[in-house]
Amino acid sequence: MRLAIFDLDGTLVDRTGAFADAITSLSQDHGYGPEIEQWLLTELADHAERGDFDRLRATFSVGESADHLWRVYIDRMAASMHCRPAVLHSLERLKEAGWSIAVATNGASDIQRAKIHATGLSDLIDGIAASGDIDIRKPDPRLFELAAARCGTQLTRGDWMTGDNPETDIVGGHDAGLRTIWVTGRPWPEGLVTPHHTVDDVVEAVGYLLDQDSA
Ligand SMILES: [Mg+2]
Repeated sequence: MRLAIFDLDGTLVDRTGAFADAITSLSQDHGYGPEIEQWLLTELADHAERGDFDRLRATFSVGESADHLWRVYIDRMAASMHCRPAVLHSLERLKEAGWSIAVATNGASDIQRAKIHATGLSDLIDGIAASGDIDIRKPDPRLFELAAARCGTQLTRGDWMTGDNPETDIVGGHDAGLRTIWVTGRPWPEGLVTPHHTVDDVVEAVGYLLDQDSA
């Protein structure tokens, strides 16, 4: 069985748009002004975890507990996040072709899983490894190993990693012995190992994987 591992944010789903919607809605629900909203948009831009709301409470006087705000944030993110039908359809085809599909993502366990469930990806994914599960982040090869283990298998040469981040996904995947597909969008830093293949969109990456079967 062949294994395809995917990054989540910026690869299978677009976090950016959902993030802005989630912060606006969380701010409106609690009557937070532009100062707090802007702080959240800046501080949580790349990555969010429960502790960020402790920092919010240390910076502004807000009545809500960090636990409450984190739960609301997860709900709003899950509600705002979508996976394009073309992406879901391509993964269905990959699954039908006999591939195992895993997600290896840097992020808190609860929110990454909430997003995967809310977008319909959970029906198509065999195993999820979130960095919050074991406090190990990509590019550490152990997160890719966990992704394989969660699919009931082990990493094998010839397995694939697809993601949008040059360092965490492509260098990380390479160091874990995987072949890599880079989904473009951010600049490619000089001097990194070259991905095996480059695409503009994850749907194209899945098409490429399916072609490997017939090659
Ligand atoms: Mg990403």
